[in-house]
Amino acid sequence: MNSTQITTHDITTAIGIKHAYKHFKFKHPELYEQIIQAQGGKFSEQLYCFIYGITNYPTCQQCPVKITKFRSFQRGYAFFCSNKCVAVNTAHQRKKKQTCQETYGVSTASQNEEVDEKRRQTLIDRYGTSNLAEIRWRREKNKQKD
Ligand SMILES: [Zn+2]
Repeated sequence: MNSTQITTHDITTAIGIKHAYKHFKFKHPELYEQIIQAQGGKFSEQLYCFIYGITNYPTCQQCPVKITKFRSFQRGYAFFCSNKCVAVNTAHQRKKKQTCQETYGVSTASQNEEVDEKRRQTLIDRYGTSNLAEIRWRREKNKQKD
């Protein structure tokens, strides 16, 4: 068994990421020694980098200066360093619109009547009104009371 023989599929289905540490440490100690040489603070990250041959921390797709966080073995590294970078990335915004178009048939979810109605109903359930200005005004008023 070596890095080219283990696949993500093996780990997520046969071994299970939670058991991967023990599995490699006790059943494949030589491989384990190689895995822990890979970059990363956690075993799952090291395993991920080992399998995919990653030797450098990926950088943000928006600001190539900052490195991104490791999310999970299944999801890998984040594409962006922060929500700020996600919000200004035009390619990401385009993809988001496209996904929304495919899912709801409109470019933003609130343009979908069903979604908008659900949003309105949630506001009514929580605050007794769907008027955002009124909710904000009441919140401010309550703050002043304290
Ligand atoms: Zn960034």
